[in-house]
Amino acid sequence: MEDLPIILVENARILRAGKLTRANILIEEEKIKSVTGSRKPNADQSIDARGRFVMPGLVDGHAHLYDPAFTNREDFTSGTSAAAAGGVTSVVEMVLSTPVDSAERVLAKIEEGRRHSLVDFSLHAGMMNLSNLPNIPEIAQLGVRSFKTFTCKPYYADDHTLMSLMRETSMHHSILNVHAEDEQIANDNLQTLLAEGRREPLAHAEWKPNVVEERAVNKVIEFARGIGARLHISHMSTREGVVAVKKAKRRGVRVTTETCPHYLTFTRRDMKKQGPYLKMNPSLKGPKDVEALWKGLRDGTVDIVTSEHAPGVREEKEVGWADIWKAWGGVPAIETMLPVLLSEGVNKHRLTLSALQRVCCENPARIFGNYPRKGAIIVGADADLVMIDLKMKRKVRGKDLHQKVDWTPYEGWTLKGWPILTMRRGQIIYQDQQIVGTPGSAEFLPMAL
Ligand SMILES: [Zn+2]
Repeated sequence: MEDLPIILVENARILRAGKLTRANILIEEEKIKSVTGSRKPNADQSIDARGRFVMPGLVDGHAHLYDPAFTNREDFTSGTSAAAAGGVTSVVEMVLSTPVDSAERVLAKIEEGRRHSLVDFSLHAGMMNLSNLPNIPEIAQLGVRSFKTFTCKPYYADDHTLMSLMRETSMHHSILNVHAEDEQIANDNLQTLLAEGRREPLAHAEWKPNVVEERAVNKVIEFARGIGARLHISHMSTREGVVAVKKAKRRGVRVTTETCPHYLTFTRRDMKKQGPYLKMNPSLKGPKDVEALWKGLRDGTVDIVTSEHAPGVREEKEVGWADIWKAWGGVPAIETMLPVLLSEGVNKHRLTLSALQRVCCENPARIFGNYPRKGAIIVGADADLVMIDLKMKRKVRGKDLHQKVDWTPYEGWTLKGWPILTMRRGQIIYQDQQIVGTPGSAEFLPMAL
């Protein structure tokens, strides 16, 4: 490694044992070398944090950044530029339409990330089924230890498949990561809605009422309990799901779960105004679900917040005004995730700064096997930091964001609390609304589970 300057981040406010304390963070060779109170060690360069809140860089456990078939929506460079601007320093990239289900395909994606990403990354493999199940050992061997599958279309895995996948992932120290919505109820509802000629945006939200998630979540929890498998439930959207996970955790089931900024800030009523732009899977629910998800984050039932960044281009959304079934499902979210959580969570007393750091940094790093290299400001960890101005107010404008698409569901929202500097392994990659990192500097992060 070439000689990197020794950097001191001075006068930061960091969380220690749940309390904000002043700290000087010394960085050497990409790592945190020391964290001191009043003492200021010598360094080649210093960055004055001026009493600003400094958190570990966020670890986004679920983001769709690169699908070779759909680079009009996003690619590694644009998606991780948006990540950097949102204080995210590592992502677990989630497979989308193009399968990542063999060693060859995993290696190709790692190569793509190494060449084009600005932030460090791990990968989820998928979509898993019986035909690619035999590839699990070789994929796990490469450090990709989270395998995505669905209990519903379009990647439906039946009960036998789910249980077989759980047995195999368990044997290879891996997680089965499930999109949990019940296919049978959803399909019955869909047939009824189609027969009635329902095509307006709200029909999509009616398609999968809460019971659809509740039933699937309970089922996969039972399977995981029986097998002793490690289960992760993607993008939880209902209060019933939260209750199910809470009970399961009490019984010792090895289950973790996530929710996403959109499920914490919008309800299906918002589709009246934003229509297809708020189409996503699972669909938005009601105000009681929103509050249950915040509560779940506070009490530890919901382990992490992920962006579930899944932008579609305007044309893919616009078609949904006439026929919601034709619209792309998913929203851009990676750059706004932290400001949204600060503004709607911390500022509204739904989340403490400690809880925010737990669900955005520490827990995702733990679940996806990179703690404490990531997710912590401690000696020996990667120098991944985000400096935050808790008082800064900014209006969200799609055109100001660094993602490829020019829209956001938060258009016009004034958010309070923004990242002003993001550092990844000691290198500043974002500062004062400018991306200063370069693609090709990222490292692939194998999961140690
Ligand atoms: Zn997803």
